[in-house]
Parts: sequence; structure tokens; C-alpha cells
Amino acid sequence: MTRKIAILGATGSIGSSTLDLVERLPDRFEVVAVTAASNVESLAVIARRTKAKLAVIADKSRLGVLEELLAETGCQAAAGEQALNEAASGDADLVIAAIVGCAGLKPVMAAVEAGKTVALANKEALVTAGDLMIEAATGSGATILPVDSEHNAIFQCLAGNRREDVSRIILTASGGPFRVTPTNLGDVSPEQAVAHPNWSMGAKISVDSATLMNKGLELIEAHYLFGLPSERIDIVIHPQSTVHSLVEFVDGSVLAQLGPPDMRIPIAYALAWPERLATPAERLDLAALGRLDFEAPDLARFPALRIAREAMEAGGAAPVVLNAANEIAVDSFLKGRIRFPEIAETVERALGDSGFTAPRSIGDVLEIDRTTRARVEASMREVCP
Ligand code: NAD
Ligand code: MG
Repeated sequence: MTRKIAILGATGSIGSSTLDLVERLPDRFEVVAVTAASNVESLAVIARRTKAKLAVIADKSRLGVLEELLAETGCQAAAGEQALNEAASGDADLVIAAIVGCAGLKPVMAAVEAGKTVALANKEALVTAGDLMIEAATGSGATILPVDSEHNAIFQCLAGNRREDVSRIILTASGGPFRVTPTNLGDVSPEQAVAHPNWSMGAKISVDSATLMNKGLELIEAHYLFGLPSERIDIVIHPQSTVHSLVEFVDGSVLAQLGPPDMRIPIAYALAWPERLATPAERLDLAALGRLDFEAPDLARFPALRIAREAMEAGGAAPVVLNAANEIAVDSFLKGRIRFPEIAETVERALGDSGFTAPRSIGDVLEIDRTTRARVEASMREVCP
């Protein structure tokens, strides 16, 4: 049977890897909807190639161009927030949530509320609205399948085991491009920060991997997905990115999922679950690798990890503030407005003067997100107008 899929963020890194898999298997997958932020040219190419029925561009000012590019294809062109939500909650059985940042929250929630199976890459959506999303999924019967490689690894290790038999999960982290050098992180450039040693990804998550905020966001992601408290989620640095994460059980057994660092593997698992898909990913050659290394994370060098754990433990509005401040700080770093260490400093400062009450609705989350972004932007204008 063919599965109808919607790809939110089809022009990005995860979107492209998803397309690479599903376009090889036209009998199994039918792409019904694709979306992007503003790149109408790439979106139109994808829509034509996949024969999608709906193509949505978030930026409304680009709708006219999209309509022209899709003329006489039978693919409907649409734009804006409402149309994104429709792509997420419409025809598809399976929604690939691959928008970057809190911008993906509303469409993800639309998919969850419509009871879809959601292959979730967009970790920021879960970080900012974890409780609300899990609650909505329970209510609607939606299934959330983790695409993030670590969470996908844990999900694979949990298969066939009782949740109450889990004692601890261990997330692995590559340590990013600055794990050991340079000694002084004050002068690293955006180009150096996005050059990840093992994975090829979008710019924002690459910077997050360099600060280790990515692992901090993943800690919070794991907390919501697997329902475990902070003290039962550990992080270990593993520079080879071969062991994608581990689960320890009450008897002392530890299961791990291994594989080459290729996002098509976790995406394929989410696409076909509970079955598996053959993928063109390279095979693991342990003898060629020779060794697997592990070390404790350096929290002094990478304060973002400590800050994220504190935000998770504080709960309430803290993860929303953490994420919003980080999105603005990363963007500012990529534009050369702040230095690398100021990313974590900005986030910590924003958490210090937040003063919000815990969000009780997606509207509350978006309000905290908006206010934090505005405050952080304003504080940056003071420092570097
Ligand atoms: P990317 O920047 O390559 O792609 C992002 C996609 O989202 C693009 O299609 C873009 O057009 C769309 N988008 C951006 N802003 C938008 C907005 N305001 N409204 C609507 N659409 C918007 O990012 P990516 O690396 O593919 O990452 C996507 C998500 O997956 C992120 O949350 C990231 O943390 C997560 N993730 C990525 C990887 C990876 O290997 N790339 C691994 C694990 C998790
Ligand atoms: Mg990850």
C-alpha cells in the first residue's frame, strides 16, 4: 500500500534526505504536499518532480512566483501560516516535520491534532511545547516517531522492551568541530562552526552542534519523548558518531544502535516503522574504524549543555526562553554580529531575566517565544547597533 506523505521543510537537509529515499520507492510513497520558507524555485522543482498536489511557501510575498512556476502542473500553490497547517493536517498519513526552529511548532501541532503519524526532526517544536504536544498526541491518537538520530537510536533500542525496565538513557554527542581545538573559542568564524566533522546539516543545527546546545535541546527532546527525568538522561562525547545512543536497563544490560553517520538511516526507520527499508547508506566497517572513543563532556568549555539542563529542570517557560534566545543568538553569530561564546552567554542572560509563568497553551508558548526574541534582539542592538 502506498503511504501518502507531506514533507514540511522539503528544501532543507532533512527534507532532501527524505526525498532521496522516497523518490526511489514510488510504489511505497506518494508525496502529497511539500513546503519551504522562501525558496520558491527549489520548492517548485521538488513539487514538479514528486507530482505533489500541494506546495506551500511560508513567505506570502513569493506566492505569485510559485503560482507561475507551477502553472499547468495540477499542483496547487499556497502560502502562509494557514496553508502550512493545511499541508500538515490534510491528505497525508505521514508528516515529515523538518522545518527548523520554533517556526515549525504550529504545523507540527496541526499534524499531531489531526492524528497523523509524525516523523519528527524539528526538535525545537518539542523543546518548546513538549508536554502540550505529548498530551495532544495522546488525545488524537497521533504517533510521534523520532527522526533525530540519537532519539531514533533510543526508540530502536526500546523496541520489544518494557518502558518500566529502562533505568537510564545515554545520548551520544560528537563534540562538534571545536571539541579539542582551538583553545580560545572567542575568534572562531561562522564558516568554522558550520563545518561539522561527521554530519552534513543545515546551518542552525551545525552551530548548535558546535556550542553543544544541540545536545542540550536533545536532552529536553529525550525528556519529553521518553518521559524520563534529568537524572536518568546522561550525555557522553563520542567523536566518531557511530554509536548513535544507548539504553541501560534495570538488569545492567545496555543496548546501543550503531551505524554510519547518514540521516537516511533514521529517516528510513521513521518512514517504514515498524518495518525497515533498504537504504543506499554505506555499511559500517568496524575494522576500518578501528576504535570507538568516549569521554565526559567539558561543561566549562561548552556551558550551553549545563544551561539547557538547568532549563529542563526548571521546566515551565524556561525551555521556550532557552530555545528562542538560542535561535536569535545563532542567527546573530551567523551574521557576524556576536562572537561564538556570546551565544551561550545570551541564552543564559535571557533565562535569568525571563519571569514568565508556565505556558498552558500553544498560544502561550508562541507569546513567550515572541517576547523573548524581541528582548534578545533589543539587548543586542544596545551592544552592537
Ligand atoms: P535546513 O535549514 O537545512 O532546512 C530547514 C527547512 O525548513 C527548509 O526547507 C526551510 O525552507 C524550512 N524553513 C525554515 N524556516 C522556516 C519558516 N520560518 N517557516 C517555514 N519553513 C521554514 O535544516 P535541517 O538541517 O534540515 O534541520 C531541520 C530540522 O531537523 C531542525 O529542527 C534540526 O534540528 C533537525 N535535525 C536535522 C538534522 C540534520 O542532519 N540536518 C539531524 C537531526 C535533527
Ligand atoms: Mg541529533
